[in-house]
Amino acid sequence: MIKVLNDRVVVIGAEGSSNITGVLVKNSVIVVDTSLFAEKARKVKELLDDFFKKPIEMVVNTHYHPDHTFGNVAFEGTKILASELTKSFMEVFDERYLSKLPPIEKIVTPNFTFDEEYEDKNLFIKRLGGHTLDSSIVFFKQEKLLVAGDLIFNGFHAEIVADSDLDEWLSALKFIEDMRPAWIVPGHGEVATLECLKAMQRYLVKMKRLLDGALNLHDAMSDENFSKRKFPELFSWSLENLLHQRRS
Ligand SMILES: [Zn+2]
Repeated sequence: MIKVLNDRVVVIGAEGSSNITGVLVKNSVIVVDTSLFAEKARKVKELLDDFFKKPIEMVVNTHYHPDHTFGNVAFEGTKILASELTKSFMEVFDERYLSKLPPIEKIVTPNFTFDEEYEDKNLFIKRLGGHTLDSSIVFFKQEKLLVAGDLIFNGFHAEIVADSDLDEWLSALKFIEDMRPAWIVPGHGEVATLECLKAMQRYLVKMKRLLDGALNLHDAMSDENFSKRKFPELFSWSLENLLHQRRS
């Protein structure tokens, strides 16, 4: 999927894979997230070069997960910005974690970091946590475009991992809602408006109720907000992660 939102914004993703966003800010391009594959990231870089015909000024990583960062290698030499936490998490991937992934060319960690926030005239980045401790949002002020990383899944089940925090995640969504973005780029799925954020809020609230025993699996799955999302195996996996959190 290549979504050209206007002559300044392009979002590239494929069925279920993570989105890469390119935004022209003044005379250069800012890229958010880089996908799992070096080869794909190189093709995306070519495509962005062709489309904008402007230099890529900076790459931003929303969080440490490999499907958002391992394509960084295609942008080596460029300024790569992320939270300090993202950088530190990327420095400690262990062999067991990496062995479950496709062969990796090289892990290129961010070379510029911020603690909680990064702001300039055109850009506002904030680490909100939730999906992972380091999950950050990237807001392009002029476009009112918010790149949510994996805080929002559109049309796909959410990936709730061992280090996800549902309460923090819901607070992060509230923060995004209050920013009133015109466009939201989810971590996975098509570019959307605030509607996909509201669906994500309802999804996480139901997930919490499911965990608390206030809702049964059948009732959750009869909700279209659950049954119509793709990758149901992700739902089972997320539920297992949450139950494991409860036990430990
Ligand atoms: Zn993620």
